Amino acid sequence: MNPAPFAYQRAESVQEAISLLQEHGESAKLIAGGHSLLPIMKLRLAEPEQLIDIGRIAELRGVRRDGDALVIGALTTHRQVATDPAITGAAPLLTETASRVGDRQVRNRGTIGGALAHADAASDYPAAILALEATMTAQGPNGTRQIAASDFFVDFLTSALQPDEVLTEIRIPVLPGGTGWSYQKLANQASGYAIVGVAALVTLDGDVARDVRIGVTGASPVAWRAAAIEDALRGAALDEAAVTRAAALAGEGVEMLDDLHGSAAYRTRVTRGLMQRALLEAAGRARG
Ligand SMILES: Cc1cc2nc3c(=O)[nH]c(=O)nc-3n(C[C@H](O)[C@H](O)[C@H](O)COP(=O)(O)OP(=O)(O)OC[C@H]3O[C@@H](n4cnc5c(N)ncnc54)[C@H](O)[C@@H]3O)c2cc1C
Repeated sequence: MNPAPFAYQRAESVQEAISLLQEHGESAKLIAGGHSLLPIMKLRLAEPEQLIDIGRIAELRGVRRDGDALVIGALTTHRQVATDPAITGAAPLLTETASRVGDRQVRNRGTIGGALAHADAASDYPAAILALEATMTAQGPNGTRQIAASDFFVDFLTSALQPDEVLTEIRIPVLPGGTGWSYQKLANQASGYAIVGVAALVTLDGDVARDVRIGVTGASPVAWRAAAIEDALRGAALDEAAVTRAAALAGEGVEMLDDLHGSAAYRTRVTRGLMQRALLEAAGRARG
């Protein structure tokens, strides 16, 4: 199906994109890689009258270190996230996550900013972004603000961004040494999207877990931190029995998705299995 008719304008700067968003109001949409927006426009699930192309704004590109943080421009493609040495050095969890997004064409065109702004329940990044405790920088008519990962994913296809804001960069605190990581995913065989994706970070002090962070995507309408399991494992020795016991709590109190890709009960079982795997792999990497 073809999209409904729309007008197209290219913004040359973030400031110009914000002005255009203000001028056109709710009828306008930013477009970056187009790999989420164009499919839903073709299905007529979105019918923006005005597209504002931010794809060539140089200030939204690039990866840099800023003190103890890694800063990733919103227009960084999934392929760049998966191959940038600075990201691999400071946040290999994100490297792994980006390499698992869709197929080569999607990774070459789609952007990390677009994926986060779109807030698809089946998107891969939210699990890692939550576990990494990243912060999203949003720029709007009143300046910039920082949004913590825990506040960013609000609802199904809804992020904390306002309609007149541009997501400009993602800031990731660099992890302490001795931190292991893992991203485990059950992928939809046709699209690659996550039916369930679990990201885990484990920092060890000897045999004992000093810190455990777990993000879950795909399983429910909004990605979540598995806080109860993190609490249960902090200070514990991460052997198979402890991890299996803790992972068996996954999904309790969470509204799981129940759709043609998997029932809520199936997603709960898959989440528990992937969490166990992710924690054991992360603990193994932390041990070196
Ligand atoms: C066949 C296929 C398979 C896929 N498989 C996967 C997968 O396995 N895992 C996965 O995670 N994703 C998958 N995707 C989605 C893909 O990752 C998209 O690239 C991504 O979700 C959106 O990025 P984009 O740059 O293409 O955004 P666009 O499609 O350009 O935009 C998406 C939305 O975000 C908004 N937006 C974009 N950039 C910004 C910004 N900087 N600030 C504010 N708002 C912004 C737009 O207005 C729009 O509403 C798949 C897509 C396709 C087509």
